[in-house]
Amino acid sequence: MSAPCCNAHSTVPVEVRDVRVSFDGQAVLRGVNFTVPHGQLVALIGPNGSGKTTLLRCLLGLQKISSGEIKLFGESDLKKALPRIGYVPQRLPLDRSFILSVREFLALRLHKTHNWFWQSHKKTDSLICDTLADIGVAPLLNRPLAQLSGGQLQRVLIAFSLLTKPELLLLDEPTAGVDSPGEESFYELIASIQRRHHLTVILVSHDLSMVYRHAAHVYALNGVICCEGTPEQVMNAESLKQAYGIHVAPYEHHHHVH
Ligand code: ADP
Repeated sequence: MSAPCCNAHSTVPVEVRDVRVSFDGQAVLRGVNFTVPHGQLVALIGPNGSGKTTLLRCLLGLQKISSGEIKLFGESDLKKALPRIGYVPQRLPLDRSFILSVREFLALRLHKTHNWFWQSHKKTDSLICDTLADIGVAPLLNRPLAQLSGGQLQRVLIAFSLLTKPELLLLDEPTAGVDSPGEESFYELIASIQRRHHLTVILVSHDLSMVYRHAAHVYALNGVICCEGTPEQVMNAESLKQAYGIHVAPYEHHHHVH
């Protein structure tokens, strides 16, 4: 596992230089530097309120930065990079009366909704079916979205983000709505997708054991990047204390537990 390259290069998926963001005069990101090389699964950890979601929103062009620079695939105009990015939110709050099936919901991503309810679209259908099969949830195709469990819904959101074949996947605490027995297989799934599709992944996660197991590189954020490195380098008591403060128990990795 190698550390991210720090040389600016047009193919580097994510380069964040000295980015600052403030809300109502309160500095949330205070000069963040963050580089993600191609094809790596990079974890972003840090306590609540440390700016993780804000940083992802900056990458998606949803949050204006006060200063600094962000380049995605060497491109400063983030809108141009958006088609190459998939995003999986923490959760999608749905009303029980939301009527779309999984198939109809996924079709929205492909902009093929015109006459969707009246015509069959062979190409769209097969892409949707293949994507669901790829992540092991093909039987959900015709299920109403609003009736899925937390874990099933998150898998559909992953399918939603993969439909357009992104190169960079941003996952913001994707197991927030998943019950704990399902969390491990969910992370295994993300790691397997990343490997099979040669994706670059930024994973925001609180689950330090999963981060330890699956991330090639870890960034600990608390307004600034407090520490970064391989999981072995970052996830020790001293570094975690720097990121999380004194109230958080240090992570202990048990080498024999798998
Ligand atoms: P994390 O994802 O690490 O929990 P966030 O990026 O969500 O942290 O939030 C960082 C801080 O910025 C929090 O104190 C939060 O209240 C604040 N914040 C985030 N978005 C906004 C906003 N749109 N307006 C005002 N404050 C915000």
